Amino acid sequence: MSLRELHLGLGANLDDPASTLADAIEAIGRVPGWSVAAVSPLYRTRPVGFADQPDFYNAAVALRAELAEDPAAAAVEVLVACKRLEALFGRVATFRNGPRRLDIDIIAMGDAAVIQPRPRGTESDTDDRPLVVPHPSAQERLFVLAPLADIAPHLRAPGWRGTARELRDAQARIEGEGAVQRLGAWDERARRWV
Ligand code: ADP
Ligand code: MG
Repeated sequence: MSLRELHLGLGANLDDPASTLADAIEAIGRVPGWSVAAVSPLYRTRPVGFADQPDFYNAAVALRAELAEDPAAAAVEVLVACKRLEALFGRVATFRNGPRRLDIDIIAMGDAAVIQPRPRGTESDTDDRPLVVPHPSAQERLFVLAPLADIAPHLRAPGWRGTARELRDAQARIEGEGAVQRLGAWDERARRWV
């Protein structure tokens, strides 16, 4: 076992997304051996891909987790735990980029790079992509980069063209600053965004 720092991206767009995300962060911190080291501000994002659905709410967290020594095994452990939380929070399995109650993505796991067939039970019917860390779409998604850059501006995951802050700034020029809207900062005492 070894202690790793990871960055997770969270998204939700059904019911009460801000509460869902706050509850999810609470649940992430209660996974044995895990602790949440930082929580980003909350952002609201226009849906990407499939536009006819409610706005997404997004945030990022820095996670410290006691995980397997082997990076691929460690990433699988995190994915399995995240899938369990998604199910617990009633993610409605629809289709890629479709509406969901809770989505948790592994954005990066320090300087580790992993491509690993997904373990049984984490695959969906419509999607058999392998587990890839750093998340292959992170660099092109302002809704991932904006919250990430707030908590880890200097993070540069393997294969990235720049730091989280540089990528955020570049992506903001492409998508336009208005593509994501910052709603509030995380209040550690209240355990929600204010
Ligand atoms: P998105 O990649 O846009 O978040 P989904 O949440 O629908 O799309 O993810 C589809 C599948 O991709 C997940 O079920 C998961 O098993 C797999 N996957 C591959 N790489 C990752 C990663 N880095 N983090 C989370 N899930 C991943
Ligand atoms: Mg996902």
